[in-house]
Order: sequence, then structure tokens, then C-alpha cells
Amino acid sequence: MPVDPPLRGALRARRRSRETRPGYDRLLRFDPMVQRNYDAVFGPARLRDLTRSIIVGLILYNGFFFTSFLLTPDLAYVSFILRIIVVTLPSQGLILLLRRVSPGTREWLILAGMVNAHFAMVLTVWISDSPLAGYAFAELNLILVFGAFTLGLRLLQSILFLTSCTAVTLLLIGRIDTFPDSLRAALWLQSVTAYVFCLYGSLQIERRRCTNFMEAFRASERASTAEETSQELQELSRTDPLTGLANRRALELEVATWFDDPAPIALAMIDIDHFKLYNDSLGHPEGDDCLRRVSAALRDALGDFDTSLPARIGGEEFAIALKGSATQDADALAERVRHAIETLALPHPGRLDGLKIVTISVGVARPSPGTKTSLSDVLRRADAALYAAKRRGRNTVCIESRGIRAA
Ligand code: GH3
Ligand code: MG
Ligand code: MG
Repeated sequence: MPVDPPLRGALRARRRSRETRPGYDRLLRFDPMVQRNYDAVFGPARLRDLTRSIIVGLILYNGFFFTSFLLTPDLAYVSFILRIIVVTLPSQGLILLLRRVSPGTREWLILAGMVNAHFAMVLTVWISDSPLAGYAFAELNLILVFGAFTLGLRLLQSILFLTSCTAVTLLLIGRIDTFPDSLRAALWLQSVTAYVFCLYGSLQIERRRCTNFMEAFRASERASTAEETSQELQELSRTDPLTGLANRRALELEVATWFDDPAPIALAMIDIDHFKLYNDSLGHPEGDDCLRRVSAALRDALGDFDTSLPARIGGEEFAIALKGSATQDADALAERVRHAIETLALPHPGRLDGLKIVTISVGVARPSPGTKTSLSDVLRRADAALYAAKRRGRNTVCIESRGIRAA
């Protein structure tokens, strides 16, 4: 089925614009539209995962009070307060808050919670005078691992979290005078290594998450574009390009389904009178314009006949199919349509029969309800009625099997 050039261009442009869209930036942040889609698909699961991970994290975080008690016994009480009051209680509040904020804000709140947990630990190690305090630095690295992998912080938040916490840790290692240089160097190395591992891991995981989603997203976009295109083409294949009315194929396809149900059917066939002479006297473009105006008037005249289907079925031939109770008014409708075209009073200077305006002849077939019939049979009968109308002088409605009623 050929696609008309403007439509083909529009379809190609739309496909191109979708293909060139990057999807996410260097910090692996999705475009707003993609992000909305991502949140719609994965938002609930993300919230569930975060909630569970925070609960698991808090249990382990508080479990580590045991190591604080062993390594910084001078601050056991302070450590206990910090873990419970500064970290655990606010984190529980955070869990509730996460449900009430947007997905974007949610990621920033998680970052704040993680920095807070790290800060509480750093404070204990910093102010402790215990000679074993240095061993507590391992716990700080675990906090990095938890944030980067268990919570799966988004890349931007992960970079900020890992960098700020590692900077504070390195500073702290340098400030504790009681550490021998060898221990300080080893702790620095451990912290930097943990930082690089976590950052690199976070980058890998985030990149995979984004590329996987973009692949799925583009595949679904391609599928919906294909679906839209096929619908547009289908629509196009059923529409008459000159008048915008249904074409013969659409009429046949639609009316064929009407025979499945027992409701009565009627069909009016319409032909413009002396249209060849119209073209001959005014030219083909004027003729096209006349066809457009006649079809618009036809559509208007149908108005409230909502079970009617008007179509252009040939050059200057139209048909109106009616179904159900509307068929009872088929002859009145045919007359209304004929009258509507006459009232348009489109000048037809080429006419030789005295009438100098565009008129139509209408033939109506209205098979009795319950009789076995088919579309071709109804078309044939309406056509016969139309030609009877032509023979009777045109600008006339002829109802099949009931003679001709002059306009
Ligand atoms: P009658 O009253 O018996 O129907 O006479 P008529 O001249 O209308 O019938 P005829 O079948 O002899 O001529 C139909 C004309 O319709 C011939 C053709 O040039 C014209 N026609 C068909 N399709 C188009 C179209 O798309 N645009 C234009 N402008 N004219 C068309
Ligand atoms: Mg004709
Ligand atoms: Mg004609």
C-alpha cells in the first residue's frame, strides 16, 4: 500500500528523532521522559528494595555496636547513643518518608542517610582515645560497600557519597596522632582501595542498569511506533484521500460485519448528475472541489444518523449504509441528502437539461428484515434503484421496489 509522501516523511522524522535520543547523560541520569517511564516500571520495586536494605543495614549497623564496645570502650555509651538516636531512629523515619516523596528526592534522602551513618561512626573513632580505635576503620569501609552495592545508590549520589566519606576518612586517619605512620599508611591505602572498588563497581552496575533499561525502552518504543504506523496505514487504506470519507474497501469491510447480526440494513447509492459535463465545462480541479463539497454536505446531512456509514465508492459515486432502526428512515434520509445538495446550489453551467446547479440521484435498497441477503446483493439493488432514478430525470430519489418518488 503506497504511503503518501508527507506522511512517510513525518513517520521517518519521528523514527529518527527517537533513534537519536541519548536516553541518559554522562552521570547516567535518564532524560526526564525516560526517567518517568523507569519510575513507572521500577519505582515500586526500588522502594521495596530500599526499605528492606535499610532494615537489614540497620540491624547489622547496630550489631556492630559490639565491635565499638571492644575497640572504643571509652566511648561505648556515646557510640550506643549515636547508633540509636542519631542513625537508627532517623533512618526509620526515612523509611516512612521515602514513600511520600518523588523518586528523585528519594535518592537524595538515601544519600543523606548514608552520610549520616558514616558521620556517626567517624565521630566515635575520632574522639576515642582507645589504642584499638584504628581497627574500627574497617567498619567505615563496610559502610561504603553497603551504600554503593546493597542500597545501589544512583551514580551521582554514589560518587558524592563515596568521595565525601572517603575524604573525611582520609582526613581523620591523618589527624589521629596516636597512629604510627605504618598503620596510617596502611589505613589510607585500604580506604583508597575501598573507594576505588566501590566507585568502579557502582559505575559498572549503574551503566548496566541504564543500558538494559534503554534497550527495553527502545524496543517497546519501536513496537509502539510499528503499531501506530500500521494503524495509520490501515486508516489510510480505508480512507478516500480526496474527500476524507471512507472508501469502497472500508464500506465493504464494515458492512460485511453487519450481516453477522440480525439488525436490518439499508443502502443508499448516490451519483452526481451530469458530472462529466461539470468537468468538461469547469475543469477537473473544479470537479474535485465539487466532489469535496458534495461529500461534506453529505456528511452534514447525516448528522444524527449515528449508525450510518457514508463512503465514496467510485468517481462521483457515493453510498450511505444504514443499520438497525435508522433503516426505517432510509427514504427520508435519502431525500434529505438530495435536498441538501440541491440547496448547496453549486453552479453547473455545462448542464443541458435546464437545471444549472449540481444535483444528485439516489437509489435506496432496503431489504425486508429477516430476508437472506448479502452486500453485493444490496449494492446491486441500490444500483438498480439509482439507475431508475437517472431514467426518471435525475435529481430524484428512487426507493427499491416501491417505485420512484420525484423530488
Ligand atoms: P450521470 O448523470 O448519468 O451520472 O452522468 P455523469 O456525467 O455524471 O456520468 P459519467 O459516468 O458519464 O461521468 C462521470 C464523470 O465523473 C466522468 C469523470 O470524468 C468524472 N470523475 C470521476 N472521478 C473523478 C474525480 O476524482 N475527479 C473529477 N474531477 N472527476 C471525476
Ligand atoms: Mg457514475
Ligand atoms: Mg454521474
